[in-house]
Amino acid sequence: MSSLVGPDEDDPRGKPPVPDEVQNAVRTLIEWAGDDPSREGLLDTPARVARAWKEYCVGYEEDPGVHLDRVFEEVGGYNDIVLLKDIPFQSHCEHHMAPIIGVAHIAYLPTDSVVGISKLARVLHGYARRLQVQERLTAEVAQCIWDKLKPEGVAVVIEASHACMTARGVRTPGVTMVTSRMMGVFRDDERSREEVLGLMGH
Ligand SMILES: [Zn+2]
Repeated sequence: MSSLVGPDEDDPRGKPPVPDEVQNAVRTLIEWAGDDPSREGLLDTPARVARAWKEYCVGYEEDPGVHLDRVFEEVGGYNDIVLLKDIPFQSHCEHHMAPIIGVAHIAYLPTDSVVGISKLARVLHGYARRLQVQERLTAEVAQCIWDKLKPEGVAVVIEASHACMTARGVRTPGVTMVTSRMMGVFRDDERSREEVLGLMGH
């Protein structure tokens, strides 16, 4: 007799235990949604959902600023915009705990030090893996880079769709929300702002 269960992703061995009250909360939610949490297909769902939420919100366990601790001061005379474009990310809105899925563009104008480019994405993910609103996520990423790198300017633009809007409520798939935070020269100098927005494709 062959089993339909493949490589067992549901094997609880080696996974962190989920407290009963957390599993019960998910069971209550399943019941509230209209299903029977004791039917076979839903038996392991509460523990899976709980572990998934720990993962979605793993950003609470870190200070995203640590990714910017290590800087490179030798930049070969480079003193122009550094831009990381189209960084995919996922977050969850704090109002519905529904997915926010989008891309971010992060730029800064260095003074005399730069960071490894992947670090900007790590800062983004550190703040995205929490319950968020897009406006705060945008501001937190910009502020973190501003505080840690002390650059001439920071520009963060985030475009994202919110499942709480596309999958429920007004149900408008394809709609994205755009937020931006400009600091330093990108806020004060129109030409610099236009340049960085142009590089970002806006
Ligand atoms: Zn929402």
